[in-house]
Amino acid sequence: MKGTSPAIPDQVDVLVIGGGINGISAFRELALQGVDVVLMERDDFCSGASAALSRMVHGGLRYLENGEFRLVRQSLQERDRLLKNAPHCVSPLPTVVPISSWIRGTLPTIAGFFGARVKAHRRPGLMIRAGLLLYDLLARHSRTMPRHRGLSRAALRKMVPGITGSAVGGVLYFDARVSLPERLGLEMVLDTEADSEARAFSYTEITGIEAGKIRWRDRLNGASGSITPRVVINATGAWVDIVGSAIQPGANAKRVHGTKGSHLMIRNPELQAALGDHMVYYENHDGRICIAFAHAGAAMVGSTDILIDDPDAAVCLDDEKSYMLEALANVFPTVRVSEEQIVHTFTGVRPLPVSEQGATGRISRDHSVDVEPAGLQPFAVLTLIGGKWTTFRVFGEEVADLALAELGRAREVDTYDLKIGGGRNLPTDACERTAWINRCAAATGMSEARFSVLVSRYGSRAETVAAFISEGDDAVLASAPDYSRREVLFLIEHERVREIGDILLRRTTLGIEGRISAALTSEIAALLGAASGWSDEETSEAVARFNETIQHRHRVQH
Ligand SMILES: Cc1cc2nc3c(=O)[nH]c(=O)nc-3n(C[C@H](O)[C@H](O)[C@H](O)COP(=O)(O)OP(=O)(O)OC[C@H]3O[C@@H](n4cnc5c(N)ncnc54)[C@H](O)[C@@H]3O)c2cc1C
Repeated sequence: MKGTSPAIPDQVDVLVIGGGINGISAFRELALQGVDVVLMERDDFCSGASAALSRMVHGGLRYLENGEFRLVRQSLQERDRLLKNAPHCVSPLPTVVPISSWIRGTLPTIAGFFGARVKAHRRPGLMIRAGLLLYDLLARHSRTMPRHRGLSRAALRKMVPGITGSAVGGVLYFDARVSLPERLGLEMVLDTEADSEARAFSYTEITGIEAGKIRWRDRLNGASGSITPRVVINATGAWVDIVGSAIQPGANAKRVHGTKGSHLMIRNPELQAALGDHMVYYENHDGRICIAFAHAGAAMVGSTDILIDDPDAAVCLDDEKSYMLEALANVFPTVRVSEEQIVHTFTGVRPLPVSEQGATGRISRDHSVDVEPAGLQPFAVLTLIGGKWTTFRVFGEEVADLALAELGRAREVDTYDLKIGGGRNLPTDACERTAWINRCAAATGMSEARFSVLVSRYGSRAETVAAFISEGDDAVLASAPDYSRREVLFLIEHERVREIGDILLRRTTLGIEGRISAALTSEIAALLGAASGWSDEETSEAVARFNETIQHRHRVQH
C-alpha cells in the first residue's frame, strides 16, 4: 500500500509526542526550519481533543469576561490567518446571540470580571455589546469580516425563526468555522512530509524510557523500538502528565486538569431550518454558553465542560445529553428532539492548566510551555499546556522557537502566510474558480457537479483526487453513493489511513453526518482490507475495533 511509513530512526533532534493539532503544528514549524524531527501519535492524527471541538475558529468572545485580552487578540489574528491560508476548510460563521435583558445582570457580570465569585446569572445585552465593541477593536488590524450589529426583537425572530419569545433582541457578529478540523491537521502532516525529510507515525505510542532511550510501540502491528532525541516536545494534550511521568520517571508534575466536552449531532428538520446559516450562541440557566449551528447535514449542539481525571474515560453520558437538550429547549421552545434524531455524539477533553477556579468556564483557555533543560534526563523536555485549536499556528511557532533555542539554531521561515493543503492555489475569485472547475472536470472526464463536490471536500487537492479516480474503473459506494470506491482508495493510498475509523471519522464527514451503518462499515473494511493485504480474520478484527469505538465513544448503534 502506498503511504506505508518508512522505518522509525534510532536518533533524532526533536521527537514530538502527540499528533493532535498542536503537536502537528510544532512538527510542521520545525521541519520547515530543516530540523530533523519525528512525530509519534498513539492513535490516528487529530483523534483526541482535536477531533472534538465545537468547530469554531474564533477569538473567544466569552474569554473577554475573564480578562484574557491577549488571547482574544491573538485568536482573532489566527482566525483571520486561517480564513486566508485554509479557505477550503475555514469559512465565516455569522453568529447570533439572543438577549434576555439589556440591563439585568450588569452588576454580577462586572463583579465576575473583577474576580468575584458570583451566582449564575444571564449576561445583560449591554455588556455583550460592550464585549463585541472590544472584539471588533481587537480584530481591526487583520479585519476580514464585518463588525457586529444589534438586532431588534423582530429582526432576531426573522433571522432565527422559532427562537424563544423571551428574547428582547439580539446581536449579530462574525466568527469562523472549520468544516473538518481533522483533515486540516492531516494536510499539515502531508505537506510537511512532502516538503522535508520529517516523518510522522500514527498508532505509535510512547510507552516509557529505558537507558535514556524513549520506547515506542506500534499499536496495530506490534512493532516496537526506541529512539534517542535531543529535545522532546510533549504535545499530548490532556495526557501530558501521564506521558510526562512515563518519560521522566519520578517527576510527577500535575500541569493539566482537563474538562470533558460533548456535542450532539441532531437531524431535526425544524431545528436545522431555524438555524439556517447562523450559529446561535446562547446561555443556559447556569450561565454557561452553549452553541448550535447547522453542520455536516445535521444540527451540531454543544457543549459540556466537566472536570475529568482520566481522559481515556471521556464519553458523552446521559446527563450531558439531557443538559444540552434542556438548554436547547430553552432557546427553541417549540422544537422537539427525539432520541433517534441524535445521530452521532462526540466527546473530547480540553487540556486546561491546573486551576483553583471553581467554575470550569473561568479556567484560562490560554497556552504555555514548560521548559526543562537536559540534565535529570538526557534530553530537554518542552511540555505544552492548554492551547485552543484556533491558535495552533502561533502555539506551534512558540514551541518551535524554544526547541530551536535548545538546539542552538535560528528560525529561517515562518508560517504566517503559508497556505495549508487544499488551500494552496485554490482560486477564490468566483469566475476563476468556475473556469478552473470546468477545466479540471473536462481533463478528467468527470461532471462539473462531481468535481465541485470534490472541491468542497479537498479544496485544490480535488485535482489530484480526480486524476487518481480517472485512472481506473470506478463505482459509487452502495451505502454512500456520494462517494466512490476510487475516492476512498485515494484516501487509503495517500492519506495515511490505517484503520476504518480513519476514513469514516476523520478523512470524511460520514461519521459526524450520522451515516455510519453496518453496510457502509463492511464496504470500507473490504476496500481497506484489500489495499492493506489483510486476511479475512484481520478484516473482521478491524471491523470489531471500529464497532467498539463508535458504540462506546460515539454512542452509535447499528
Ligand atoms: C468540547 C470541546 C470543544 C472545543 N471547542 C473549540 C473550538 O470551538 N475552537 C477552538 O479553537 N478550540 C476548541 N477546543 C479546544 C481544542 O480542541 C483543543 O484545545 C486542541 O484541539 C488541543 O489540541 P492538542 O494537540 O493539544 O491535544 P489533542 O488533540 O488531545 O492531542 C493530543 C494527542 O496526544 C496523543 N497521545 C496521548 N498519549 C500518547 C502517547 N503515550 N504516545 C503518543 N501519543 C499520545 C493523543 O492520542 C492525542 O491525539 C475545544 C475542545 C473541546 C474538548
